[in-house]
Amino acid sequence: MNSPKHAVHHLYDYRKAISSRPFTARGKNVVRCQLCLLAEHLCTCHQRQAVNSQLAFMLIMYDDEVLKPSNSGRLIADVIPDTHAFIWSRNDPNRKMLSIINDPRYQPFVIFPGEYAVEGQRVVSQVTASECGTGRTPLFILLDGSWREAIKMFRKSEYLHHLPLFSFSPETTASYALRKGARDFQLGTAEVASLAIAAAGEASNGAVLEAWFALFVESSLHGRSRNNRDPENITRLAAQFEQTLLQATKAK
Ligand SMILES: [Zn+2]
Repeated sequence: MNSPKHAVHHLYDYRKAISSRPFTARGKNVVRCQLCLLAEHLCTCHQRQAVNSQLAFMLIMYDDEVLKPSNSGRLIADVIPDTHAFIWSRNDPNRKMLSIINDPRYQPFVIFPGEYAVEGQRVVSQVTASECGTGRTPLFILLDGSWREAIKMFRKSEYLHHLPLFSFSPETTASYALRKGARDFQLGTAEVASLAIAAAGEASNGAVLEAWFALFVESSLHGRSRNNRDPENITRLAAQFEQTLLQATKAK
């Protein structure tokens, strides 16, 4: 089911409008859907579907990250309705972004490795009701960019230093990577989010995002290569996504 534009779509439009020159990504000659940024013939927008979730996300994106077709942060906004997205600014943090972080209806958590915690910063590995306080919605903040950019954003954003860090144990990340057959333990933004969703008690929604990410990766790779990938893979992953969506709806 096609839903109206979400926060990342709007941020994409905004960032594109203020660009002085067109963004040149790998495969720049590909005609892309302006919503999912996949090659037009591989567009997945007709399948995009949000779930019911008690969680919220905020993407703080580095410079032109939102313009990159390879960015998976947008997949979070596809699946979790209460997702916000902003472009990071070192000297002039977005005021709306700060007001959401300070909104008492939310309990923000910065998803970041515990070893980077500043002095006195709390590190949690679970999001329980007692961590959030009654009636507060967990707001997961993700710093979206390369690893180097994420570290820079974290270090230079004081407003993040009084918030608890939500940090996965190395075992969690490793077992996830092993299960997926990934060669390294560097997870994509959407994968990190799906782990966080599961850790916050919404396992079936985490599975939906994971399946949506798998379909996105295969469709992206398919768009890049010429005829040497089996189109059956996309069909299979699309069916798997539909299946997890169905299970998530049933779980409610
Ligand atoms: Zn599309």
